[in-house]
Amino acid sequence: MDGCLEASLSPLSIPEYVLGCSGRRMPLLGFGTAASPPVGSQLTKTAILQAIELGYRHFDTASLYGTEQPLGEAILEAIAVGLIKSRDELFITSKLWCSDAHGELVLPALQRSLKNLRLEYLDLYLIHWPVSSKPGIYEFPIKREDFLAMDFKAVWKAMEDCQRLGLTKSIGVSNFSCKKLGDILAFAKIPPAVNQVELNPLWQQKKLREFCKANGILLTAYAPLGAQGTIWGSNRVLECELLKEIAKQKGKTVAQICLRWAYEQGIGILVKSFNKDRMKSNLEIFNWSLSQEDVKKINDIPQSRLCSGQDYISKYGPFNTTQELWDGEI
Ligand code: NAP
Repeated sequence: MDGCLEASLSPLSIPEYVLGCSGRRMPLLGFGTAASPPVGSQLTKTAILQAIELGYRHFDTASLYGTEQPLGEAILEAIAVGLIKSRDELFITSKLWCSDAHGELVLPALQRSLKNLRLEYLDLYLIHWPVSSKPGIYEFPIKREDFLAMDFKAVWKAMEDCQRLGLTKSIGVSNFSCKKLGDILAFAKIPPAVNQVELNPLWQQKKLREFCKANGILLTAYAPLGAQGTIWGSNRVLECELLKEIAKQKGKTVAQICLRWAYEQGIGILVKSFNKDRMKSNLEIFNWSLSQEDVKKINDIPQSRLCSGQDYISKYGPFNTTQELWDGEI
């Protein structure tokens, strides 16, 4: 593992990373709560309780997902039944939706998320996408005419204020290119601790990884298995012949190969499964390793994005093409 990572083993053996600025310890493998198509609150809550029981301590939600409320309920129940002693044992991430990505709307949006979660603070609050949309219109997909350019300075300053107020321990971004991260870093008083992006063996984000490493930003993977079965992902990762071959040789699942590979690259990982057996097997990646030869083969896989970001493109701007959204990193 990369030397700059201050990884250490938690009692549950999920290695943790100490986030820059806040010093908060983030479990490097976290549990995603975005189901597609969405499932009801009760199923989400049950899955989260099972995940806590199995040892997951890091949970990723967003105001968009509709999972803040069931996550909050699951946390209360986990404490009530003694799975954890207090909320402080968990690391909770949520995200600012595009319609709230306006300087004056950031704090109220975070306060709403905290209310949904029944929490006093988040561990990490992220700008979900680098684009704003008309305030007050909460929609997905966003209507093409509702997109607006984000005032990065105003929104980031409001994010910094949220951290100063203690409502979130750290702040960061999601779906940001090197260029857009650079724009934030140019004026940030508190630099982003995390950039959460699509990352898996078929879209390895080599350039962004280098950039984040050089700037002390932890890159965190969503869709580490390619988000099979969701509207934003595909089965291309789990069906990749090379990954299947490596999995067979090692007696592991393709999912475990993907997660272990990501972990060995020194990044954070969010994986979603609401199936107890898969939740459990996704955790079993810390007591074995890939050979150098396997890593080399994986690193040589031809690259393409699964999550194109097409939903964030509009002829009315600010991003007319995916080239512009990702600043050519496609
Ligand atoms: P993912 O974790 O790569 O894939 C999830 C899909 O894979 C689900 O359909 C799940 O189905 C299946 N799966 C999980 N484990 C498996 C295994 N061992 N074998 C076979 N299939 C397996 O993708 P993701 O959900 O997109 O990403 C994880 C989290 O990242 C999300 O839940 C969300 O919290 C976050 N995210 C963030 C953004 C962003 O813009 N910041 C975008 C997308 C996602 P079952 O549940 O049936 O197991």
